[in-house]
Amino acid sequence: MSAALPIADQRLVSRAALRLIAADRRTVVVMMILNVLAAIAGLGGPWLLGRIIDTVTGGQGGGQGAGQVDRLAIAVLGCAVAQALLSRYALSVGYRFGERTAARIRDDFLRRSLELPAAVVERVPAGDLTARGTTDVDAVATTLRDVVPGLFISAVQLVLIVTAVVVLDPALGAVGVLGFTGIWFVTRWYLSRARDAYLLEGAANSVMADELAATTTGARTIEAFDLRERRLGRGREAIAETRRTRLATLSLRSVFFPLVELSYVVPIVLVLLAGGWLYFRGSVTLGTVAAAVLYLRQLVGPVDNIMLWIEQLQSSGASFARIEGLAAVPTDQTTSSARPDGDKIEVRGVRYAYDSGQDVLHDVDLTIRPGERLAIVGLSGAGKSTLARLIAGVDRPDHGSVTVGGVPIADLPPDELRRQVVLVTQEHHVFRESLRENLMVVAPDDVLKRALKTVGADWADDLDADLGENPPDGGQAQQLALARVVLADPHTVILDEATALLDPTAARSAERALAAVLHDRTVIAIAHRLQTSHDADRVAVMDGGRIIELGSHDALIRADGPYAALWRSWHGA
Ligand code: ADP
Repeated sequence: MSAALPIADQRLVSRAALRLIAADRRTVVVMMILNVLAAIAGLGGPWLLGRIIDTVTGGQGGGQGAGQVDRLAIAVLGCAVAQALLSRYALSVGYRFGERTAARIRDDFLRRSLELPAAVVERVPAGDLTARGTTDVDAVATTLRDVVPGLFISAVQLVLIVTAVVVLDPALGAVGVLGFTGIWFVTRWYLSRARDAYLLEGAANSVMADELAATTTGARTIEAFDLRERRLGRGREAIAETRRTRLATLSLRSVFFPLVELSYVVPIVLVLLAGGWLYFRGSVTLGTVAAAVLYLRQLVGPVDNIMLWIEQLQSSGASFARIEGLAAVPTDQTTSSARPDGDKIEVRGVRYAYDSGQDVLHDVDLTIRPGERLAIVGLSGAGKSTLARLIAGVDRPDHGSVTVGGVPIADLPPDELRRQVVLVTQEHHVFRESLRENLMVVAPDDVLKRALKTVGADWADDLDADLGENPPDGGQAQQLALARVVLADPHTVILDEATALLDPTAARSAERALAAVLHDRTVIAIAHRLQTSHDADRVAVMDGGRIIELGSHDALIRADGPYAALWRSWHGA
């Protein structure tokens, strides 16, 4: 079975977040300064209102009449306007930081997915990579744009407001801060559960995306084999799991938020009680108590935001862990600088297992002679395709070695590998780009046109034709794939089901194109038709992950072993 991609741990996620902040540090500093100024402006209001109360009640600074109150009221308005303006600029700088960083994450994701070894991409569930590249990247991008700047603003406001209350009256400040400790316990309880819950929710989303993708891309197979019920069953299971994990995170929230709401009232009640007592003892003025209560009311905004955003940070933290997980995939690109000495391909003592663990190749030895035509035959599941992938350098053996000219094939850098061995399968990807770009090499037009002509692609005369608009049919796509091989000019070509899916007419023209491509090259063909093995110089017979016979067609027929039996069964068919 296919294995999911890894997930980064907390340490890696924090490091990645710091790296993103450092990449845009000037913006971050401007954002910080603007926010601190906005928060300072916000502190003026409650203090001035306290002064107004004291003026009116004839307390501290009282008895100066209505003029003083008017001046203080205008100052309240001035503070509010200054705070609004500074916050607006702080927010727009924050948004710019968020969008730039989101673009960076998308860019990194694209680069990393392109760096993933093809063998890994093929094996992970399709929905996993897609979900990480869309839902998860979007979640992190939104968080960076809204939450990170917002969280910062709220943290600054929180610190300044608490400082202001303590400066106003240390005793009242201490009581207020004490009143807020409840939130700390509630938050700890929540955080200890939230990360895992959100990771489970993300994983369930991936499985569901995968199931849906499999159902839509496999529509034809589902119809042909009447698999609707089975697909429906699996889809429902995935949906049920998504619902279960989502309910788990929702129920955490349904406890968390009401508790936080309750916690806000506690400090205000405490300060009112303590303030009343101190007022009647004559140690504080009414204005001071009122200002302290107003400050604590003001705290509700930032604390509320922090709670809300901590919650969003949790869910997007899980998304970020999934995005960063891509970096944990070994890219397998330990490229060797050694150049192959000659064209001889040698397979020595090779064992190989897919992720599921069981060896599917056992001690395979094979020397491929330059220029020969080697056919590999055997029943389905014998290990032919796996061996082909190892010889093509797509996968590397778990034990033993696969070398060309003495250098491990999978260690060759891609451009060098392409000059040595190319694997041609029935999968011919055509990109939504021009014909020229689809040929994958930079070469003069006449070279490109000659390659297309060699493979009989008479339809392809305009190199700038957009293949996204006019997609080639199956036969043309295959000609394109073969033209890529001609241009790569490898000494060895491996054919795995290269023409198996084409209709007979297309197959015949493909055969002709193939003959032109294979001319003067070493050919390893996974044989699906007896003609292929009959015409080969040597035939390797595989069974249960081993090569059980090797020799020319005639010699193997004379030996009357497994190949002869296979040949007879093919003939009879
Ligand atoms: P053949 O080409 O002879 O039909 P393969 O090389 O495709 O054989 O398969 C050899 C064995 O490896 C089979 O048992 C098959 O089930 C298993 N196998 C092939 N591809 C994968 C994969 N991607 N993941 C896990 N097992 C695989």
